[in-house]
Amino acid sequence: MRSGVTVAMRKMLPEHPETGGVALDAGPETGDNRRVFPATRFTAMDCYDEAKRSDIMSRIRSKDTKPELLVRKLLFHAGFRYRLHVKTLPGHPDVVLPRRKVVVFVHGCFWHGHAGCPKATVPATRGEFWEAKIRGNRERDEREIEALLAAGWRVLVVWQCACKKRNLPALADRMKRFVESGNETRLELGASDFKLRE
Ligand SMILES: [Zn+2]
Repeated sequence: MRSGVTVAMRKMLPEHPETGGVALDAGPETGDNRRVFPATRFTAMDCYDEAKRSDIMSRIRSKDTKPELLVRKLLFHAGFRYRLHVKTLPGHPDVVLPRRKVVVFVHGCFWHGHAGCPKATVPATRGEFWEAKIRGNRERDEREIEALLAAGWRVLVVWQCACKKRNLPALADRMKRFVESGNETRLELGASDFKLRE
């Protein structure tokens, strides 16, 4: 038994995907005799090849995310009533205000490729892979928005980065104005639209 690795710890360690053994190539020992395992933490995801991993990532539920719940709360407090995740509309909008003819998407900055946003930085490794993937998402989003506009819907996109706590009053105001305007057809709101409050 290697010092610092107890039987209980060994049981908890994930198996090495190739050898089937336990990945014990641990990081440096810490002062208090606990080992840290940064370099070779094999996670379940490492057992899959790139395509499979990407497939799994794309299936991760993106409904009811924290920013989306926030946006819903703001709209509700502004007095609007809505339907959620309407499957019959292009893009399955997160929030739909049928009487106002408004659909709302709450987009994660990374997955939906928020232009110019620090949260949308593509990782250095496999950069081309991610760029292609996110470009595909952006193109799909754009097609869906065009289809909604063509069908007479007004489209509000709230980016995840706009949902910072200090921005919420301004975000709520801006969303309310959009919904009530009746003639604004398309609006995107990101953190940079609330610079004054930074
Ligand atoms: Zn953003």
